[in-house]
Amino acid sequence: SPIILAENLSKVYRSGRIEVPAVRGVSFAVQRGEFVAIVGPSGSGKSTLFYLLGGLTQASSGRVVIDGVDFATLNDAQRTQLRRHRIAFVFQKFNLLPTLSAMGNIEVAYSVSGRKEPLDRAYLDHLSDMLSIKGRLVHRPSELSGGEQQRVAIARALVTHPSIVLADEPTGNLDTKNSDVVLSMLQHCNRELGQTVLMITHNPEAAAIADRILHMRDGEIVRVEKGRGGGSHS
Ligand code: ADP
Ligand code: ADP
Repeated sequence: SPIILAENLSKVYRSGRIEVPAVRGVSFAVQRGEFVAIVGPSGSGKSTLFYLLGGLTQASSGRVVIDGVDFATLNDAQRTQLRRHRIAFVFQKFNLLPTLSAMGNIEVAYSVSGRKEPLDRAYLDHLSDMLSIKGRLVHRPSELSGGEQQRVAIARALVTHPSIVLADEPTGNLDTKNSDVVLSMLQHCNRELGQTVLMITHNPEAAAIADRILHMRDGEIVRVEKGRGGGSHS
């Protein structure tokens, strides 16, 4: 069974008498271990779809099922629990707490995730190596470059051993060099660790590394394309 299932998913934003249909009847399934990219022009509903899939906003209609569990059947606490235990989020904006060091950010996020087992220091060390941030962890976000901040945010997301990685424009604010590091990391998560990756991007080169590319326009998936990843999932 798919690890992510979207069924006839819709989201309408309402402000006063104005209604904006942002996602309109979207259905698709992501198989365990698949790398899927969602591309489309600005305003096509990518971020809204991302929020829906992550359980960060409620659908107007339709459903999101994560590993057999329908978000709509969960209360707020259960939804938070599912999110924290299964899903890692990476955003375009790095969302690091400014008063804490990079390491402090990682530790706080881990402690908020509510896991019983202690932070896996050896794995964090390994991630820091791969992301070349080992020497940077004592610094606050303001002392780090944008690329370093995103690499810290990625270490923070991955140290929880998530089964799903949801990334919204993870390379949106980065130069080519940093983008390459971030994309290689996502590829590593997918190929080496078997994590399911769903990445939103409007960079076609970034999207090309996926197994499958979903094209969005005006809130709908209008085309599905095979990526270079070429995983053997169906
Ligand atoms: P994308 O990520 O592809 O740029 P979004 O999901 O951000 O697309 O936006 C899809 C549509 O929904 C756009 O028309 C956008 O203006 C609208 N929208 C997004 N967020 C809100 C909001 N909070 N309130 C009202 N409209 C919104
Ligand atoms: P973009 O998709 O252009 O990179 P963002 O991802 O920051 O931009 O979000 C697009 C718009 O949608 C922003 O105006 C943001 O405030 C709004 N938005 C996204 N998700 C939500 C949400 N869950 N609730 C309210 N507004 C949202």
